[in-house]
Amino acid sequence: MLTTESLRDYALNVLGVDKLGVANIERFDSAPDDMNPRFIMPKARSVIVYLKRIVRGTCRGVDEGTNWSSYHIFSYAGLGQMLGLAKDRLLRHIEQHGYDATPLSAVASSREFGPKAPPAAPGLPPREVVIQHRIAGTLAGLGEIGWSKVFLTKEFGPRQRLGVILTDAELEPDPIVTGELCDRCMRCVAECPAGAIDPDRSVGIEVEGHRIEWNDLDLGKCKLTHFGLNKLSGPFFAKRFPGVSFPVADQEVTWLEAWDMGWAMFPTMPALSALSASPVASCGARGCIIACMKHLETTGVLETKFRTAPGFSDGEPWRLDEKPGHLESDHKGFVWDPDKPEVEKPEPSDGKGWY
Ligand code: SF4
Ligand code: SF4
Repeated sequence: MLTTESLRDYALNVLGVDKLGVANIERFDSAPDDMNPRFIMPKARSVIVYLKRIVRGTCRGVDEGTNWSSYHIFSYAGLGQMLGLAKDRLLRHIEQHGYDATPLSAVASSREFGPKAPPAAPGLPPREVVIQHRIAGTLAGLGEIGWSKVFLTKEFGPRQRLGVILTDAELEPDPIVTGELCDRCMRCVAECPAGAIDPDRSVGIEVEGHRIEWNDLDLGKCKLTHFGLNKLSGPFFAKRFPGVSFPVADQEVTWLEAWDMGWAMFPTMPALSALSASPVASCGARGCIIACMKHLETTGVLETKFRTAPGFSDGEPWRLDEKPGHLESDHKGFVWDPDKPEVEKPEPSDGKGWY
């Protein structure tokens, strides 16, 4: 017999998933049509949400300003693939018990890219209907959405990614728990290199007496930074285009403009395009994940503890400069900072070195 507990046991102990929770479909009753799971699976009775943690050490290189590939490969693209593998096994498991199981993906919603097409039939909302995974995770009792808009759990703080499955199996829902983690410290706001996290304006919903609220994130600024176009948070764009002045915090772009620009610029930045065939997560989520993780670890509210670095790292976060400016006299081609000494050239190899 398929129950919430048997599914959780299978996910955690066979598939290596870190958490699994269930929401009954009624918790989505007030969702707008283009975010309502019933428009994807009319007979859905339960929404299953599971997560795998972002391994903390994959944030090290970004926090040090020395390595971006570990975060992207292990905590973004690779973690998405691992979630997909676990999802495939969960879908088969549910189907073996005689129920339908519909997988969802964490893709952009039509609010971001605009409706692609008219409704498939009269009375249906325009395509695509997309369920926001963080809302689903909250309604399945896994954690809460922080002010940053990132999903938080008591085990890992902001370190996880989510997967969602709809099923017509009627499973016992888990209780919703909110208001225990995000204390509105605003460290995510201060350390977001894009200025994308709004300190004042919020959006939110109310479900079963829980107010679920997050900042009205500037999706355009975030996406430009995420795709490596922010000179403050990575060397990629400045190295390739030293003469272009592009302060991301001053840009007023939609998510779609930023997305298109990121895809257009991505192949021009070899340090990024060597990592992946598609734009990479090159912000490293320094405000919304890393800064928040440090805060929550330091306040002691998280259950996962670390022996030698209980607050991940100390000190002020690094920040590159918008300078050198866009004039040739400022940037001198590829010279990074005219005030700093040039890096010494390595000695010619004698054939006995590491390479
Ligand atoms: S850093 Fe984390 S805990 Fe602090 S306001 Fe942002 S989301 Fe909330
Ligand atoms: S991913 Fe980066 S730019 Fe976007 S909100 Fe998080 S810290 Fe800010």
